Amino acid sequence: MSHSGTPISHLSTFSCIRCGLTASAVAPSGLPRTHCPTCLAGRHGRCEARTHPIAVAVQRDGTWMLIQRCTGCDRLEAGPVASDDNQLLLIRIAVKPLAQPPFPLEHLAQL
Ligand SMILES: [Zn+2]
Ligand SMILES: [Zn+2]
Repeated sequence: MSHSGTPISHLSTFSCIRCGLTASAVAPSGLPRTHCPTCLAGRHGRCEARTHPIAVAVQRDGTWMLIQRCTGCDRLEAGPVASDDNQLLLIRIAVKPLAQPPFPLEHLAQL
């Protein structure tokens, strides 16, 4: 499918094994896509199993990283969030710990 002299990464596509979406393998930022921009599921390179988004982390430089857990081997993987990722889903994942605190939120008022 690739033409000679053209980088393969710009021609290849990423096919989501969860929702079936076909997206470019390279995100608008130029970084390789590690997960589906719609449902945020990914594929674990080591075992080919599906990865499930569980958390969002922010790096020192402000870059958002999506933390995924592999459904096959239970390992955690982190990949950069792309500008065309599903923002509503990202926010839902980011606020999840706040919605399910392991301690009563009333205690915060006493700090
Ligand atoms: Zn998907
Ligand atoms: Zn795995």
